[in-house]
This record gives sequence, C-alpha cells and structure tokens, in this order.
Amino acid sequence: MSGHLAIVGLGPGDPRYLTPEADAALAAAQSLYGYGPYLDRLQSRSGQSRCASDNREEGARAAAALREAAAGASVAIVSGGDPGVFAMASAVCEEIEAGPETWRGLDVIVVPGVTAMLAVAAKIGAPLGHDFCALSLSDNLKPWELIERRLDAAAGAGFVIALYNPVSRLRPWQFGAAIDRLRRHLPASTPVIFGRAVGRSDEHIDVVTLDRAGVTAADMATLVIVGSPATRVIRRSGRSPLVYTPRAAAEVSL
Ligand code: SAH
Repeated sequence: MSGHLAIVGLGPGDPRYLTPEADAALAAAQSLYGYGPYLDRLQSRSGQSRCASDNREEGARAAAALREAAAGASVAIVSGGDPGVFAMASAVCEEIEAGPETWRGLDVIVVPGVTAMLAVAAKIGAPLGHDFCALSLSDNLKPWELIERRLDAAAGAGFVIALYNPVSRLRPWQFGAAIDRLRRHLPASTPVIFGRAVGRSDEHIDVVTLDRAGVTAADMATLVIVGSPATRVIRRSGRSPLVYTPRAAAEVSL
C-alpha cells in the first residue's frame, strides 16, 4: 500500500521550536489535517490541501486522514506540542486498531515535538529536574474520581506534577478542585508555575505558592507545574526567579 501518514508535533507555538524533521514531514504532505488554529500557524504550500476540524473531533479527523492515506495520498495530521502527549497519535492508533485491516498496512510515522511542560519548564529553570508526572485535568475522557485518585497518588509520592488542560469553557471548576485536593498533601509554600501561551506573542509565566494557586487565572492555553516539597525558588534581583527541583531526593516526608 503506497499511502503515508505522518503524525506531526508542531511544538508549543514558536516556529523555532518546530524540528527540522517536522518541517520536512509537513513539506512532503499532499494534505494536512488538524485543529484549525494549529493549521493556521503553518505556511501555505501550493498544491497542498487543508482539512481543519474542531478540537473535539479527534477520532473523526484521524479516520478521515487514514482514509485519504489508504487511498494512496501522503497525509500529515498535526498536533500542538508533541503528538503523543494528550493528542492525535493515540487517536490515530485507536482508529487503526478499530478500523479496517488495510489501515494496518499503511506507513505511519510519529514525528515528535516539544511538549508544553518541557517548554514551560525551560522558561523558568528546572522544575522537572527530578521525578515528575503529567496529568490531564480534562474529565471528558475519564471520570473525575480517577483524576482525584491520581492527584492523591502523585502528590503523596513526592512527584512534581504537570497539569495539562487545567480549564475550559465547559470545565470551569476542575482546576480549583484539583488545587484543593493537592493542598491535602503538599505544604502551602509549594511553588506552582503557570505557563500561558508559551512560545507565542502573548506568553506569560507566573510563579505563586500553592495557597494562592487557586485564585491565579489558568485557561485552555495554560500549563501548570505543581512542585514537590523538594522544589526550590531562587529569587534574583532584576531577573525572574529560577524554579528548580534538585537532582537528589531524600525520604518522602509529607
Ligand atoms: N500535545 C500537546 C498537549 C495537548 S493538551 C503538547 O504536547 O503540548 C492541551 C493543553 O496543553 C492545554 O490545555 C495546555 O495545558 C497545554 N498547552 C499546549 N500548548 C501550550 C502552550 N503554548 N503554552 C502553555 N500550555 C500549552
């Protein structure tokens, strides 16, 4: 079968974060599939078609891209950040697993990108310098009780926690509830980083303490990193602070 599907990570927004491999995969595609605002970031290339769809249509988008690739086309489907982190690569795998046998014969490649938590961490120091985990706060695809259980386990075990999808228009209370939950396990002084629209013109980074985190605005374009009890803040005059987690850990003492 001659069709080809590349699942391409665009990074957090700044074109300098787009890898040469991603750029080459985009240039080689006859058609591009993706969430409209992600496609809008890309230069148009003559002869290349675009199929934009809504954020919550990932399964249908993946199936449409697979159908076109199965018909022999060279197709790229794009994700912000890394396509394997809460994004399109899993959606494509789900469709391949459930779909017609011919889709298993397609040439499928995943092209990695800089995921939001790494971009945010790099802007502020090294908060992910020791053990960490990533959680999506979206309860569209999992029950809220499971999210609470994972927050308890992660904070209780001393992980730094990266929170993706903290808030959306249809999920207004989840972020505040997650912060309340984490306060059960972590000191009030735990550093919390809000990285908004990193790599875009309206980028903004804030560092607060856990007792004040619930009132700090997060939105759909914000990635939140909640420190562990070991995470430290170095204040610097005239410069933004450095937040880091030392490489060595002692006992979990929570
Ligand atoms: N695949 C993406 C994540 C998709 S989930 C990645 O690897 O980054 C969408 C969530 O990612 C957003 O709600 C936000 O929490 C985070 N995010 C994506 N782009 C971001 C950016 N430029 N700055 C901060 N957070 C971002």
